[in-house]
Amino acid sequence: MKNLKLASRAAAEQTVISVGDVAFGRDFVVMAGPCSVESEAQTLAAACAVKAAGADILRGGAFKPRTSPYSFQGLGLQGLKILDKARRETGLPIVTEVLDPRDVSWVAEFADILQIGTRNMQNFALLKEVGMSRRPVLLKRGMFSTLEEWLNCAEYILSEGNPDVILCERGIRTFENYTRNTLDLSAVPAIKELTHLPIVIDPTHSTGRLSLIGPMSLAAVASGADGLLIEVHHDPKTALCDADQALTPDLFETLMRQLRPLHAFMRSIAD
Ligand code: PEP
Ligand code: MN
Repeated sequence: MKNLKLASRAAAEQTVISVGDVAFGRDFVVMAGPCSVESEAQTLAAACAVKAAGADILRGGAFKPRTSPYSFQGLGLQGLKILDKARRETGLPIVTEVLDPRDVSWVAEFADILQIGTRNMQNFALLKEVGMSRRPVLLKRGMFSTLEEWLNCAEYILSEGNPDVILCERGIRTFENYTRNTLDLSAVPAIKELTHLPIVIDPTHSTGRLSLIGPMSLAAVASGADGLLIEVHHDPKTALCDADQALTPDLFETLMRQLRPLHAFMRSIAD
């Protein structure tokens, strides 16, 4: 991986990225919320629920990369305004996806973290644009990408002057079709060997199955991940996107009660 001038492990100390009260690379950071922003009431319900359960950051898409052009595409600017309201009501910072290089500068006025989705991991124009932004970037792994390709994409962002890149493993495509994708949990220790950037796990899109999200979240903690990105909806059956894989507030709360002690235990046995 000789092209990783800035991203390689040897290039810098562990990257620590502060967002609100937490820091990636130091704390175990939980980002949670709906797949997409559907309405003010729905977003506020999810935001209050994840805040009450102890999440650190609110997620929610205002621009949705959908397989079909006829599926719900997100509320755009209106969605960002709703996220802003949810931030003011809960105090939670916001992570939200940006799809188009032309939108980066104004989306960054609303977002605390800019998310680059799996389908755009190698959209080099978009990577350069977020590299010029001063917002931290959550860079999801391309569903067909190797670790080397992924880290080269992080390098694009770093080389434009933005040092705050958080990697997110969200599953890769394999022949297995019981799960939506295959969670590559070995990416966590591997990424820690290869780079100083923090890495989080998305147990939602990687499994696509409610019953697997809890176990894989706990496994993510044990693997040494720096945090999680989880979908939570106050009424999953009505969700306009990814309804089958959203945790209810109750399920999320149960998971949070298991996560924090496990993380404390893992810390206690480290070294
Ligand atoms: C998302 O997190 O909302 C999303 C679309 O995920 P991915 O890009 O990993 O499919
Ligand atoms: Mn989703």
